[in-house]
Amino acid sequence: MLTNKELIKKAASVIEPKEVKGGLIGNVGCALIAKSGKFFLGVCTGLGWAHGVCAEQAAISSMIANGEYAIEKIVAVWKDETEAVFVIPPCGNCRQYMKEIDVSNIQNTEIILDENKTVKLSELLPYYDWWQKQEGSHGKSIR
Ligand SMILES: [Zn+2]
Repeated sequence: MLTNKELIKKAASVIEPKEVKGGLIGNVGCALIAKSGKFFLGVCTGLGWAHGVCAEQAAISSMIANGEYAIEKIVAVWKDETEAVFVIPPCGNCRQYMKEIDVSNIQNTEIILDENKTVKLSELLPYYDWWQKQEGSHGKSIR
């Protein structure tokens, strides 16, 4: 199993920012280890927040193309103009995406936040199962 440090290095190795109309692409890299032990890489292709794909989603798509859905460990990194590497947490959309593709990820996936710090996906998505039925709302719209 790759260490956090090795995974952070792998995620950083795919960062190759390219300036395109509307912004930068390829400026965040992601590395993940699937349950099988295989690892996958991805880069972001997001132009601002409105459209595009996060590095995590790109790596996860690659994993899904290999027939896997369970993530063991995942990390995303960004580099500044001096090539300093920063580990960044997954955005809300990616947290939800990881949960949606395989509900076991909520308890099993480790998100790397630093060389010596990992948290479970459930810690970043604590209210994922908070569905409270509202009394008196059955069959009618709530006003
Ligand atoms: Zn994201």
